[in-house]
Amino acid sequence: MLVDSHCHLDAEEFDADRDAVIARARAAGVAAQIVPAVDAASWEKLRAVCATAPGLHPAYGLHPMYLERHRPEHLSALREWIERERPVAVGECGLDFFVDGLDAAQQRTYFDGQLRLAREFALPVIVHARRAVDDVLAAIRRFAPLTGVAHSFSGSADQAKRLFESGFLIGLGGPVTYERAQRLRGLVATLPIESLLLETDAPDQPDSAHRGQRNEPARLATVCTTIAALRGIEPDAVAHATTANAERLFRLPSLA
Ligand SMILES: [Zn+2]
Repeated sequence: MLVDSHCHLDAEEFDADRDAVIARARAAGVAAQIVPAVDAASWEKLRAVCATAPGLHPAYGLHPMYLERHRPEHLSALREWIERERPVAVGECGLDFFVDGLDAAQQRTYFDGQLRLAREFALPVIVHARRAVDDVLAAIRRFAPLTGVAHSFSGSADQAKRLFESGFLIGLGGPVTYERAQRLRGLVATLPIESLLLETDAPDQPDSAHRGQRNEPARLATVCTTIAALRGIEPDAVAHATTANAERLFRLPSLA
């Protein structure tokens, strides 16, 4: 049993065959998926998508890459939405200092607002941190205690350690399957297994065998077997540990 801790199942790339995508995921052992939001306009569709099958768990938030779509009032709307819907997490939120043209001060305002909501509702946070891990660490410490996940982690061993010490798990997906990702693959081999979550980030970030194609949650098993091979352990051990980590973080019903 696997948990896809980050899957944009509501994305329009899945509109034509979403039921089949979910069925393939279940057939591949993916028993549950966390579906994070990107902007306020997407919340309603995301909720509807997650109501179509068991094992689909929504998270609601305002993604930093979609900054131009966010308005200050979306933070108060998010508070009301979370209070009513009781999702498993706040997110996707965070900081992106890689993409040009995203105002840093505005990003920080939305990120801080969402960390405040996570704290208020005692929910984990799904964090996007690109070229921004130290800034994310500083922010989550200001709102401590928090829990969450640094999704698609690409930082250093030291940053991973500090995140874990701050209550955050490390989300790993397709990038670990690329031979050239030497630093990430070295890290994956040595991080404590209690700190790891599996993710696909579908429809984005396909594994190396599906480069350039739409990614699917059913491919989570490839991430799992790659991490197992890098650590020199059985895929079952990675599956068991990461599923337990996801159940604990998101307070999911037990899949065992
Ligand atoms: Zn995402």
